[in-house]
Amino acid sequence: MQKTVEKENLNPYEIVQKQIDTAAALLRLPSHAVEILKRPKRVLAVSFPVKMDDGSVRVFEGFRSQHNDAVGPTKGGIRFHPDVTMDEVKALSMWMSFKCGVVGLPYGGGKGGVICDPHELSAGELERVSRGFMEAIADIVGPDTDIPAPDVYTTPQIMGWMMDTYSRLKGAYSPGVITGKPLAVGGSKGRNEATARGCVFTILEALKDSGRKPAETTVAIQGYGNAGRIAARLLTELGFRIVAVSDSRGGIYHGAGLNIPKVGQLKDTSTILDYPGATAISNEQLLELEVDILIPAALENVITAANADRVRAKWIAEAANGPTTPDADAILREKGVVVIPDILANAGGVTVSYFEWVQNLMHYYWSEQEVNEKLQTAMVNAYRSVAELAEKYKVDLRTGAYMISLLRIKEAMEARGWI
Ligand code: GLU
Repeated sequence: MQKTVEKENLNPYEIVQKQIDTAAALLRLPSHAVEILKRPKRVLAVSFPVKMDDGSVRVFEGFRSQHNDAVGPTKGGIRFHPDVTMDEVKALSMWMSFKCGVVGLPYGGGKGGVICDPHELSAGELERVSRGFMEAIADIVGPDTDIPAPDVYTTPQIMGWMMDTYSRLKGAYSPGVITGKPLAVGGSKGRNEATARGCVFTILEALKDSGRKPAETTVAIQGYGNAGRIAARLLTELGFRIVAVSDSRGGIYHGAGLNIPKVGQLKDTSTILDYPGATAISNEQLLELEVDILIPAALENVITAANADRVRAKWIAEAANGPTTPDADAILREKGVVVIPDILANAGGVTVSYFEWVQNLMHYYWSEQEVNEKLQTAMVNAYRSVAELAEKYKVDLRTGAYMISLLRIKEAMEARGWI
């Protein structure tokens, strides 16, 4: 008789709920606490008209989800992507809560998204979409309530426009409403590199435990946006050998190691696929390369039950949010692959966002060295406490990271008398 294979659930909202259940069961969290944590406190769906360059008017749709504000105001990026859905944004806001919890930042999780392809918009249209979305969510965001930031396909310039729109609406300069801004309007030194830098700190901690040296370590990176591209640069500077990278158009492989400045130049002028002498590979093939470290730095659900078995990396550092499904996690665990989970590996971005917000509130700005040192301390401490807890409970790093977070949020909910 033919065995029917159950189709894997790839809905990120249901995936994060599953991850919560796993960690909550180990902690024996009371069911009412789990029920609160399994859904966002507030989700706003908006639509707003934008005048296009050709004179037409297009209506854009977007969302802002605020998961849990027991610990502090909600915090998290805004993505511009054609595949944005409400469930995705809800899940991403929940991952933000747990991410902030892992590092111990005084924030809950939030996330926003606009359904659009920024590559098809002119600079003027992009500005009007950015301002239109901020206007549409202005009632529920603010320096003390919910603080957005960049995410997939959004930039410091977009944060600058959004900050300007919010400040005009409120009649007061409000840099603390959003982070990841250009330096000229209250951005923090080191914020642009922070996600990648934080990810590198977690990789170095993981390697330390195994005694392996960077110079003997190969890396493949999927995604060449803010996180992937800067991680490639920082890892190269540390002596790692980056053998493969990709972007949404495909990837390149070069066993002797890619020249990362050259890749960057091609990314800016033509396409990374023009790299001379490299083998063209697909995004799927990149995930299955025989490398030491695999860094998924693009979107969700790229490592699933369908391909996890073919992953040959020893470590996976999740610079993206939600790249690995729970079924894939189980397969990787079985194979002995160590996954540094998203809520730990990519927490550097929101950590320096927190520093930016603190600087905005104080109107007092720090040097890049100060920011990077504080980031390093935060990431190393976070990694160490997750690794310790995972070891104690004999669970993977993801479950350990969830456990730390869930306990922090539960404690805050208790202290506020919610439970
Ligand atoms: N979008 C980033 C993330 O997923 C940064 C969020 C922030 O800085 O608030 O962590």
